[in-house]
Amino acid sequence: MDYLDSNLGLSDDDLAVREAAHKFAKEIMRPTAKKLEQMTPEKVIAEDSPLWHFLKKAYELGYHKVLFPEEVGGMGLTPLQQAIVMEELGWGSNGLCIQLGAAGSHALGGLMSMNPTLLEEFTIPFCNCTDGSIRGCWGVTEPDHGSDTLGFGDPFFESSQLRASCRAKRDGDEWVINGQKSAWVSGAPVATHCLLHTQIDPSRGFAGIGAAIVPLDLPGCSKGKPHEMLGMRELNQCELYFDDVRIPAHYMFLDNADYYPAFANQILAGFNMTVACYATGMARAAFEEAFSYCQQRVQGGQLLKEHRSIRQIIFKMFSRVEACRALSRNAALLNSSIVPAFPEYSIAAKTTATEMAFQNAYDAITIFGANGLTKEYLPEKLFRDARANLVCDGTTETLQKVGGYTLFETYPRPRGSMQRMR
Ligand SMILES: Cc1cc2nc3c(=O)[nH]c(=O)nc-3n(C[C@H](O)[C@H](O)[C@H](O)COP(=O)(O)OP(=O)(O)OC[C@H]3O[C@@H](n4cnc5c(N)ncnc54)[C@H](O)[C@@H]3O)c2cc1C
Repeated sequence: MDYLDSNLGLSDDDLAVREAAHKFAKEIMRPTAKKLEQMTPEKVIAEDSPLWHFLKKAYELGYHKVLFPEEVGGMGLTPLQQAIVMEELGWGSNGLCIQLGAAGSHALGGLMSMNPTLLEEFTIPFCNCTDGSIRGCWGVTEPDHGSDTLGFGDPFFESSQLRASCRAKRDGDEWVINGQKSAWVSGAPVATHCLLHTQIDPSRGFAGIGAAIVPLDLPGCSKGKPHEMLGMRELNQCELYFDDVRIPAHYMFLDNADYYPAFANQILAGFNMTVACYATGMARAAFEEAFSYCQQRVQGGQLLKEHRSIRQIIFKMFSRVEACRALSRNAALLNSSIVPAFPEYSIAAKTTATEMAFQNAYDAITIFGANGLTKEYLPEKLFRDARANLVCDGTTETLQKVGGYTLFETYPRPRGSMQRMR
């Protein structure tokens, strides 16, 4: 069963956008993810991998540029439509969603820079790409620094003792980058570009960060091997290495760490909102599986759905989908434009939706019994994927800490500041 009905108040346009995204999620994403997740990481990125067909189709339909405005060649969707599309794609495969989202990272960097040269050089070509040949990734975490990169408000965050692995130094008209990013950079094995967070002012610890767009074919760039994960196995990830990599000065579009907090807020607001929408789709997928299964399976002389305790579980699952959807759509309304950024809403949506998706996947396995533990049925994959989502883009615990910091540092917000700016 495809559960699409609690969408009152959607316009005909919204409904058309939703149906198209659902068709893609059902006909392309789910079968591709199923194939990919059974392959080795090397096979996932090999020349004959189904990954390439997926990317080509996604780019042809414009699903790589869901968040981009029409002015730069984006889909030009309303914030609500963006959330609707991302929920549908998340229903198809969260791993492939992360792949697509990561693919636009460097182009989003160009958009955030508001530098016309970077827009021309990176953002517009990415949006106009229809064959999947331009693919970004987001390099922020490092082998020794995962949650540390989100340590806003902690005294250590600004400590000069906190040395990043990846650092950049200005040299005339260029920046020179050295160091490494963690093995978890999504889409890195197949990426052509990177939106790179790199330390530019070591005296300020992880507060001394700049941001650059780095084409990964530059001399000195190399990649690690893709590796196996418990969940989202269809997603490819690997380390990135930088050995005296030289970029023109304007590629370091955030070259003053004073502006890093504002930049990081926008990144958190945007990326956490997208993961919340994907997780909503995952929570819904788990609900749908359980809802359908309990109408077929007979135990105790009657269909599972006739047992009151089962109905209660199903209703809790339904309620979680509604809660995820409300939070993620609200976060999209507030945060789908570049300014202003309200990260606390996106963090609330991400942490809640990913936890609820995990709980729904758990409950789906409860309803399926032993069948739920087999690869024959979807809940087994959803459960593994949902666990990975609790770590992706910051662990729940770390993000809640950042959210708490944001509340105390920025509230009360000035009256009227919550009005969207476009
Ligand atoms: C599916 C997926 C996709 C990802 N994609 C990307 C990507 O595209 N680019 C990228 O750069 N990274 C990516 N990551 C990495 C991700 O952002 C990190 O894994 C995450 O931020 C946590 O860092 P860590 O794994 O190093 O854990 P750690 O930071 O080592 O944390 C380990 C545990 O300690 C807790 N902890 C950490 N610090 C503190 C503290 N100060 N106080 C109390 N508890 C603490 C954490 O909550 C966690 O439970 C991805 C990860 C996953 C799973």
